[in-house]
Formats: sequence, structure tokens, C-alpha cells
Amino acid sequence: MAANTTQYLLDASRMPKHWYNIAADLPSPPPAVLHPGTLQPIGPADLAPLFPMELIMQEVSTEREIEIPEPVREVFKLWRPAPLFRAHRLEKALGTPAKIYYKYEGVSPAGSHKPNTAVPQAWFNAQAGVKKLTTETGAGQWGSSLSFAGNLFGLDVTVFQVRVSYDQKPYRRALMETYGARCIASPSNETAYGRAVLAGRPDHPGSLGIAISEAVEIAAQNDDTKYALGSVLNHVLMHQTIIGQEAMLQMEMAGDDPDVIVGCTGGGSNFAGIAFPFIGQQLRGGKKRRIVAVEPAACPSLTRGKYAYDFGDTAHMTPLTKMHTLGSTFTPPGFHAGGLRYHGMAPMVSHLKELGLLEATAYHQVACFEAGVLFARAEGIVPAPEANHAVKGAIVEALRCKAEGTAETILFNLCGHGHFDMAAYSNYFAGNLTDQSYSEEELAMALSGLPSVPA
Ligand SMILES: *Cc1c(COP(=O)(O)O)cnc(C)c1O
Repeated sequence: MAANTTQYLLDASRMPKHWYNIAADLPSPPPAVLHPGTLQPIGPADLAPLFPMELIMQEVSTEREIEIPEPVREVFKLWRPAPLFRAHRLEKALGTPAKIYYKYEGVSPAGSHKPNTAVPQAWFNAQAGVKKLTTETGAGQWGSSLSFAGNLFGLDVTVFQVRVSYDQKPYRRALMETYGARCIASPSNETAYGRAVLAGRPDHPGSLGIAISEAVEIAAQNDDTKYALGSVLNHVLMHQTIIGQEAMLQMEMAGDDPDVIVGCTGGGSNFAGIAFPFIGQQLRGGKKRRIVAVEPAACPSLTRGKYAYDFGDTAHMTPLTKMHTLGSTFTPPGFHAGGLRYHGMAPMVSHLKELGLLEATAYHQVACFEAGVLFARAEGIVPAPEANHAVKGAIVEALRCKAEGTAETILFNLCGHGHFDMAAYSNYFAGNLTDQSYSEEELAMALSGLPSVPA
């Protein structure tokens, strides 16, 4: 027998008009961001070559609420408010007394949460008179989101895509080109840094760290060009809080309140998006919930990385931030959740972990695909490989509830659909997916290269 379908759909008039800035509610501020040369704290002016001033001010703001510009909200209406579902059929399949809810971000044009920040970033750049944006992309989610957003506001977008993904996922590239962007495999011959990497290893598979270096190099050298990042930075995480704010209203509609909130973490933005508004409520004296970050065992920055100052890129052009890191020269193995292959974690997420406000776990990719297939068969939506980590995390919690006989409420973020990732599912069904562990040796080597920063 089919179970009920319950969707909690917010009226457009209730779409949040502000982003939530968790910096306003922190018991202690995160460590300063340092200049890569002087090792002194940087100021807004240091970031001006790369970002427009409005975004820099958001990056350092401690205001609790920052207004979402009206033209940005107008674009958001294409897919927001995003639906929240009760996973009745998944609960039944698991035989759990837990109630499972998921917020679905795959309804955006790019199929993930990333347009939530791509649209405002493109808007603030266009307002500042910027003509061109450069960026990096792994699996292509961020590249296609920025291509979509840049096109809306008349910006030229150039995307450096990590070589392995460029080769494995030609359809994401076609999507970027459909939106009018240029997509280049990284490492490339278009930058001094890319040429240097290729000289050392002509068949280099690329990494997000290298692609960031290439995109930053071009933006730093051209006055009309700025750089856009799809995760990690404070303002990016803040733009994603529209997810959690909507989810809060929808959980109220459901007459429920989550005990556990689960999200997957690559750079930390969709996780922050669903979790920060709830953590903020707790910091202001509200309910304490368990907040669980799930990362891939093959790139485990939060669970196995070191909390230390590190660069955001491989060429060491970015400022130094304190974060959980595997080392900026770490090249993760080529597993299928491309969006989770970043060496570091958002400094704000790292800081919250240090404050004991969240937990982190890591799962291997085969177990995550198994969870994703179970979810698809129960709920119909095929999750992105990244999202499978959140699905896995939610299922583990639901099975714990079953074993304990507790009827907790679980909320997780289904951050994207997997329609561009069916080759990965084919590999899974053919039994060709293997669990890649990172190499301890390579990790030790990458960590030994961490910059030394006086305490
Ligand atoms: C990019 C991406 C991620 C990882 O990025 P976060 O900043 O950690 O959210 C996760 N899921 C999907 C679907 C993505 O596109």
C-alpha cells in the first residue's frame, strides 16, 4: 500500500526577505583571516581585487539580518520557496518510529542549492559595474549555477572545471554553455599557474584547489573581472540560510520540530544553510538540537583534518583562514561526489565544530549510493551523489531511533538531484564503485606543508 504524500509548500509571500548571519549570535568570533604574505589580519580593502564591496561587507558583517534585494527575490520565485516533504514511504521502508522530513533544493534551474548564492553574487557584481566573473567548479554544479545567474544579469562567466569531472561529466559543461558561459578544463594553459602544474604532470586530474588558483589569477589581473566562490566563505553560507529559514516555517506548518538536523559537507554551504538558523535559535536561548555534518570518508576534512591556518587554494594566492583542513596540496581520490572533494571546510563551520555546536561523521561512497537508491525507490527523487551522504546520515539516525524505540524528528537537506550523475549510478549498479580511502602518507605530506603561523 502506498503511504501518504505530505508536502509543506510555503506561499510565495512567506519567502524570507533577509539572510540570517550567525556571526551576530556567536559566543566568540572565529579566528581572524590573515594576509598570505604578512600573516597580519586582513581588512576589506585586501579582498577588493576579487570581490565587490557589498559582498566583502557581508563577509565581515555581524548584523543578524541582511536584506535580500528585491530583484534577487524576484529570480528566486522561479523555484522558491522550495518544498519540504515528510518521507512517509522511507520511514515505512526502514520500519522506524522516527519522523523524517527533507527540504528539497533540487527544484532550482541548476538542480541544487547553489543558485541560492549564485544569483545574489551575480547581482551584487553587476551592481558594482563588474563585466566578467571567473570561478572554479568540481562536478559542475557551481559552474552551471553561476552560468545561469551571470547570464541573467549580463555578466560573462568563465569556469575552470576540475579535469576529471570535465572528462566524466560532459553534460554539466553543455549546461554551462547553454547558459552562455565558457568552460575550461583545469589545470589549463590559460594561466601561469595552470601551465606550471601541467609542466610538472601533463595528465594532472586537477583539484578544486588548483582550479581556484586559476580563477583567482585571472580575476586578480583584470580590472573588469571578479571572482565568485560557491562555498566556504561567510557570505556564501549566509546566502544559503534561506533554506533553513524556510524549513523552520515549514516545520511549524507540520506541527513538528526537528531533534536532529543532517546535511552533507563539501565546503559547508548547504549544511550551513539548513543548520545555521536552527543553531542561531539555540544560541539565543532556544531548543538544543543535534546537528550532524556528513562528509565522504575519502575526503574527511571535518573528521580527520587538522584545525589550522591554511590556504584556500593550491597556488597559495588566497588569504589564510583557520579551518579543518587536509592540506591545500591534498588531491583527493576521484570518487563520485565531486562537490565534496575540497581540502578544507568553511571557517565558520569549523569554528562551530570547535565550539561543540555540531557533530561530524564520514561514510564511504558505496554505502551512500546504497542509501540514495533506497531513498529513490521510496520517495521517487534520485539524489545527487553529494546528497546521498545526507540521506545516509538521516537513515543512520532513523535506524538508531528504531533500535532505541524513540520517535525523534529528523530533518535533512536534500541539496540536489542526480540527473546529471547517472553514470555514477550506472557504475554503482555494475558493481564498479569502490571505497576510496585517502592515503595516510599523502595526507601527512600535505599537512606537513601547512603554513606556520605564530599563535
Ligand atoms: C556543491 C555541492 C555540494 C557541496 O558543497 P557545500 O558547500 O558543502 O554545500 C553538495 N551537494 C551538492 C548537490 C552540490 O552541488
